[in-house]
Amino acid sequence: MVSTLDSYDCPLCSGTFDDGTALRVHLQVSHRKSELSAYLLDVLETNRRRAELTV
Ligand SMILES: [Zn+2]
Repeated sequence: MVSTLDSYDCPLCSGTFDDGTALRVHLQVSHRKSELSAYLLDVLETNRRRAELTV
């Protein structure tokens, strides 16, 4: 299967969806908001640390 830019991958699992709406529904149904928040905070923290390392 060829991966395309039209596919949306869930950042929390290996799920792939045809459109953003399907991905959003999946996130709301399969993942808790606290799980999403933890993921986003982890990404922000990682980016901040990388920025500090490059200074
Ligand atoms: Zn998922």
